[in-house]
Formats: sequence, structure tokens, C-alpha cells
Amino acid sequence: MKIAFCSSESYPFAKTGGLGDVAGALPVSLAKQHHQVKVFIPFYKGIKPKKIFDNYGYTKQSGVEFYFIKNDHYFQRDGYYQDGDCDYSDNLERFTFFNKKVLELLKELDFSPKIIHCNDWQTSLISVYLKTAYSGDNFFKDAVSVLTIHNLAYQGLFNKDKYHFLGIPGQYFGIDGLEYYGQISFLKAGILFSDVVNTVSPTYAKQIQNKEYGCGLGGVLKRRRGSLSGILNAIDNKIWNPKTDNLIYKKYSKITIAEKAINKCKIQKDLGLKVDKNILLLGMVSRLTEQKGLDILSQSLDKVLPGCQIAILGVGDQAYHRSLKKSAKKYKGSMAVTLKFDEELAHRIYAGSDVFLVPSRFEPCGLSQMISYRYGTLPIVHETGGLADTVSDIKEGGMGFVFSDYSAQDLIFTIERARAYFQNKKKWYATAKRAMSNVFSWETTAKRYIDMYKSAALNKTKCERMTV
Ligand code: ADP
Repeated sequence: MKIAFCSSESYPFAKTGGLGDVAGALPVSLAKQHHQVKVFIPFYKGIKPKKIFDNYGYTKQSGVEFYFIKNDHYFQRDGYYQDGDCDYSDNLERFTFFNKKVLELLKELDFSPKIIHCNDWQTSLISVYLKTAYSGDNFFKDAVSVLTIHNLAYQGLFNKDKYHFLGIPGQYFGIDGLEYYGQISFLKAGILFSDVVNTVSPTYAKQIQNKEYGCGLGGVLKRRRGSLSGILNAIDNKIWNPKTDNLIYKKYSKITIAEKAINKCKIQKDLGLKVDKNILLLGMVSRLTEQKGLDILSQSLDKVLPGCQIAILGVGDQAYHRSLKKSAKKYKGSMAVTLKFDEELAHRIYAGSDVFLVPSRFEPCGLSQMISYRYGTLPIVHETGGLADTVSDIKEGGMGFVFSDYSAQDLIFTIERARAYFQNKKKWYATAKRAMSNVFSWETTAKRYIDMYKSAALNKTKCERMTV
């Protein structure tokens, strides 16, 4: 199958979070299963393609062809979407340009795809162009458009005064089209115009059809429920493997799990925490946004510190930067906060921590709990979205600690439970070893995507036959 995979991030070229991981690993897995995959992302500052042409850069690696769409004015900036806390004021123009160029480049390359797989609001307009400007174009006749929603909270909302820039007929700006309460919504457009829509876990796929998690698009998603599914993400088990990980201090496996403590002591020292292998170390590597449970974590600190230690790595909202720094000062020796994006330190925190914190208010899938399993680091999670699909509590024979009520009280209680469990090292290590065998592989996930592609293509053909 010929697949065009369109995204605003793809690891290792560009990543701010899970979208980058997925758009890096899924295409490689699809290619391994003998599909022809081309990935399209913007040509951001810092990307070094193997070849550079007039309007794009090009690199082939791991069986996948990567195309970096060029526009220096739009993409050669320090950020991908924002400058500090502020979205770039021309994001509508930037991503509209990107979406149009992907379709133009597909024609230029004479690559007529069976599947055009778009991701999040940044590539949502592609499905609209396929059904408007390109609707009679034979080149895209067989193309099925797929939209994966990685996070419904980011919708690409813009002032309607810019509608003319999209090049989409005015009749599509309405309640059954791109309009969202007087604004332009890229994501709503993607949900309505794509042939199939999926999100990144079965539980989140159900949750987003309801008011509480629907972020204002619950009704629209419910309308499309026949074409909406949840496919659990996976992780790259080559990158995340303590046995071969060159970024951590001491490699270890299930058999040598006791050596995990060497990583713990090193990271404690590096981060200015008291070096003590018997104190429970909680790690967190995360975007620092409202979604990630930082409010309940902050409210818990007085109760849980200094009985355990917390190491946080993240970047995000400036308000969280300030409050976390303040807490780190207050709990010096028990709490460390590093405010940057740092792959190496991330690996070291996954390997050195005993427990990994994912107290998210909502979580479409979440990758960090899957990564932490690989390192024998047991996750503490709020029971929501993909966290509910991937972590079950030790009380039920699982390998993590789950709390269902999103509150500081429940989080404190759960951290205390983990601390008590940690006292029994024999039990702890046995559970950690089981966690290390808990593999979420892209091979399985890619197969589910292929099934979805095939059934969407079949449906499209059936519908066309019916129209004829
Ligand atoms: P989200 O997509 O909401 O950011 P996920 O759990 O799906 O959350 O994915 C987060 C990914 O980004 C993980 O691979 C995590 O390790 C990584 N990550 C997040 N923040 C940082 C950071 N500051 N430094 C390095 N890696 C980070």
C-alpha cells in the first residue's frame, strides 16, 4: 500500500511529545510490513536533510522516505508552534501552507497514495482539500483520508477573518463545516471531512464522545462514531531498552535489575538529591501543562516530601516553571526540577526512578507509563484514557498504582501505597521484573492501523459503487 503520512512532528527530526514519537515509529513499522511510506513534516530549524531541493528536503532512513516542506519564513524559527507561552500569530498561514504543499508535492513526486494519514489539527485541512479543490482529481481518486487525534485539547482555532487564506469555498464555513462558535476550527474540519478518524486508545475514543472529555467536540465525534476507533500507541523498544541504552549510567536487564540502583544513585547525585537507594524516588518526564496533573501534584508535596523524592524534567507553561522552581527550592534535597527538553536526562530518569508519575487529568494514550515499564519503574497513574488501558493496580495483579479520583488526596494516598510496597524489596523487584516484560510493540499497533486502512478503503469503494 502507498501511504502518505503527514504530521507536524516526527522523531528524530522534530518532537515535543507523544505525537513526535508516534510519527517517528509508526511509519517505520508500516514500512517493515512492506508498505511504501512517505512522511511529510515542515522543514524546521535544526533539521539536516540528506538532500535539499527547491521546495523540500529529503532523507531516507529505516525504509521510510522523509520530506521536509520548505518555507524559511514559516518554519526556520526556534519553536514549532510557539514563542514561549504564546502561539505564533501566523499558525493558520503556516499550517495551511504546509497542508496545501503536501498535496502538491505528492503530485510532483507522482506518488498517488492509497492512504493519506493525517495527525492532529496541524494536518487536518488536507482532508478538506481532498473533498473540495481535489474532489474531481483522478490522481487522488483512490486516496482514503485518515485522521488520528493525539490530543483533542489542541484544536487549531483561528479568527474567521482569516478564512479567505484557506482557499476553501465560503459555504463550508458553517456549523456542519469548519465553524466552531464563530471561529475556524481545523480539528473539527478534520473530524468531519476525513474518511475515518481514530484516536490513540480505546478508552479515550469512548471518553471524547462525552461532554466531560469532548472539549466541545463531543457531539461532532458522536456523529462520526461509526468511523471512530481507538488504537493504542506503542513505544520503540529499541530506543527504550535498559539492556542496550547508551544514555543511562549502567545498563541492566531483568536478571541484573539490582544494578538499577546504580542509575538511581547517580541521578540523585546529578540532580542534587540526597543519595540514598532506600528512599522512594518518583520520576516525571512531561510537558508541563494543565493536562498533566501538576495542580494535584503541587498540592501533595507537603504531605509526601521528604518521605520520598521527586525528580521532574519538563518544559511548558511559564506559570508551572515558576511554581515548580519555587517548590524545588523549598524541598531542596528531596525535589529536583529541570526545565528543558533533554533526551539523555529523560532516559536517566526513567532508569533511575523507582516509580514514574503520570497523574494526568486526562491522557489520550500516554507513552511514559509504557516506557517506565521497560525500565522496571512502576507507574502511578490516574485512571483515565490510555492510562486506564495500559496500567492496572498491583492489588489486581497489575504492575502499577492506579487512582480513580482526580484529587490531591487520592494521589497522596497512592504515593503512600507505593512507598509501603517499596519496603518489601523482594516483592518490589518481582513486580518490576514483570513490568520489564510488558512490551507494547509497534508491530502489533501497525497491524491494527493496516486493518483500519484496509477496511476504510473497502468502505470507500463500496460507497462509490453505491453512488454510481
Ligand atoms: P504528550 O504527547 O502529551 O506529551 P506522551 O506521554 O504521549 O505525552 O509522550 C511524551 C513523550 O515526550 C515521552 O517520550 C516523554 O519521555 C517525552 N518528553 C516529554 N517531555 C520531555 C522533556 N522535557 N525532555 C525529554 N523528553 C520529554
